[in-house]
Amino acid sequence: MRGTGYESILRRQSLRESAARTYARSLPIVPVRARGLTIEGADGRRYLDCLSGAGTLALGHNHPVVLEAIKKVLDSGAPLHVLDLATPVKDAFTSELFATLPGELADDARVQFCGPAGTDAVEAALKLVRTATGRDGLLAFTGAYHGMTAGALAASGGAPDVRVTRLPYPHAYRCPFGTGGERGAELSARWTESLLDDPKSGVTTPAGMIVEAVQGEGGVIPAPDDWMRRMRRITADRAIPLVVDEVQTGVGRTGAFWAVEHSGVVPDVMVLSKAIGGSLPLAVVVYRSSLDAWEPGAHAGTFRGNQLAMAAGTATLAYVRENRLAERAGTLGARILGQLQGLAAAHPCVGDVRGRGLMIGIELVDPDAAGPEDTAPPAAPALALAVQQECLARGLIVELGGRHSAVVRLLPPLTLTDEQATAVLDRFADALAAAERARVPRPSPSRRAPAPVPAPGPSH
Ligand code: PMP
Repeated sequence: MRGTGYESILRRQSLRESAARTYARSLPIVPVRARGLTIEGADGRRYLDCLSGAGTLALGHNHPVVLEAIKKVLDSGAPLHVLDLATPVKDAFTSELFATLPGELADDARVQFCGPAGTDAVEAALKLVRTATGRDGLLAFTGAYHGMTAGALAASGGAPDVRVTRLPYPHAYRCPFGTGGERGAELSARWTESLLDDPKSGVTTPAGMIVEAVQGEGGVIPAPDDWMRRMRRITADRAIPLVVDEVQTGVGRTGAFWAVEHSGVVPDVMVLSKAIGGSLPLAVVVYRSSLDAWEPGAHAGTFRGNQLAMAAGTATLAYVRENRLAERAGTLGARILGQLQGLAAAHPCVGDVRGRGLMIGIELVDPDAAGPEDTAPPAAPALALAVQQECLARGLIVELGGRHSAVVRLLPPLTLTDEQATAVLDRFADALAAAERARVPRPSPSRRAPAPVPAPGPSH
């Protein structure tokens, strides 16, 4: 167990840490320094990081404005732990956050500082709408990802389990209705309406609907703007609070400061985390004041006052706003998407390229395995894993996600330069070609063995 070399560190990690560790399995890197897009490992290798702390690092690693903000708090003698007390640092964060919100919400918003992770904010949002409506069901979508917590409240003798009604999320490439496009989104909306209005559907009016404007972990699936507006109308007409989870899509990532701005939808509740803490843990729920019906202490927690995260977050929000990085993410993302679509034309194993802003997904498929007519070929998770490993060998870190862990995901910082984008695409193209070459061709259908099931992709 001795040694400080990176191989010893990795060996000790695999011996001591839980089997649930995720990224550490597919990315055997020991980061020791980082700046912007680049991470340097203890082995001396440098990597271009398009995972960005699972979409957290809007400004990349250790941006000077973030470091400066943290140092300022440390040098000021301000307390680092303050529970949920008011401080100048928190006041500045709240002001900067409210300045970025859709106007209609900002004018009438309340913010709840909750536990530090995205999943804490989701829990808080669900509790909020249940308290405010007195109802307990929840509408959520296929492919959704909202976090990993469950049970703490139940174990504390709190509220009963949330009863979730699962609705079809529009998915043009793997449309649950087999139609794709606008028609698929229309059918998803009709299904939602019919469940809510049919007295015999088995679904009573729920406490809320929770939705991602672009599903991230679900495989980078942007919801059509019209469909988002439709969800807003459906929920507003029935007095169901609409909760939009912007944990991953927020702070410029999709080409707008908040992804709801694309459709103009103003939610009743927004769930925010990841980038708002400027790389440190921070999560909040922002909601209309009319929902603020809970009692003092109804949602508590020891770690709701991370001063360093608030300072880093204020600096990040201000930098993204002042430097119009959302706009930059939109134009650069569209260019990258176009280039990837060009690449896809030459690689039949690329089934789909999609995304919004700098939230990009490349779905890998098995083009030789014909599915039923009019459906997409089966997903190719083993190939996706191979592409991820080939990327790593070329000094590029990418994420995997999607229903079948077959979507290679790019979440670069919004500060990505044109030259860096070219370097990322070059390395990705090389890695894709290498993984494709190494792919074992499928046996003929009569002798086809079942596809191997790879380890599940990282989720967080
Ligand atoms: N919501 C969304 C949309 C997310 O992408 C994530 C994390 N990937 C979460 C919630 C949960 O956040 P955390 O991992 O910080 O709990």
